[in-house]
Amino acid sequence: MDRNVIKQEGKKRGKIFVVSAPSGAGKTTLCAKILAKFPNLAYSVSHTTRKPRANEIDGVDYFFITVDEFKKRIEENLWAEWATVHDNFYGTSLKFIEENVADGNNLLLDIDVQGAKQFKRSFPEAVTIFIMPPSINVLKERLIKRGTDSDDVIIKRIANAENEIAQRAFYEHIIVNDQLNLSEKEMADIISNAIYKLT
Ligand code: 5GP
Repeated sequence: MDRNVIKQEGKKRGKIFVVSAPSGAGKTTLCAKILAKFPNLAYSVSHTTRKPRANEIDGVDYFFITVDEFKKRIEENLWAEWATVHDNFYGTSLKFIEENVADGNNLLLDIDVQGAKQFKRSFPEAVTIFIMPPSINVLKERLIKRGTDSDDVIIKRIANAENEIAQRAFYEHIIVNDQLNLSEKEMADIISNAIYKLT
């Protein structure tokens, strides 16, 4: 048998981590810390039709695309999963996931509960993690303090948060993000265990 074929067959597939949390649970900060800690873990940049926030960069935070482009990609089956969240479309590129996993790259996906459920059907090996805010009141305070959303958007996000929290049992791991350093350690342990197969 050809040497390259042997190498290809023996190549370890990358691990996939799917993280969901209601907005305001502190997921972005936690994921940034985890990505800094694991140089062998890459962030899967999603596509969205929502408008970029002031500090967001196209291709880094999201790929910002039009509704027409998004719908075209639904018809062409180009999404590993997609969902409508707070009236905007969000999706993960199937090609990006397949190529990276085949290349042995570990990936972190930050997607909502509907997306996580769809994704797990296609990639059952994915490790699922749900990040909980300590309470709905803390979540409200964080959203108001963040100052990036209008009042009606905040109301919508809180209703959505309650709905997502109710579905947390779907996830293999639940982290209550009360103290950032403790949550970071918990998440780092889950990731090292999966990458280095400690358990
Ligand atoms: P935000 O607009 O605050 O960046 O994100 C809103 C929600 O959309 C978050 O819950 C986030 O996890 C989710 N989201 C981001 N990217 C994707 C994606 O590619 N697919 C799905 N299903 N949800 C996503």
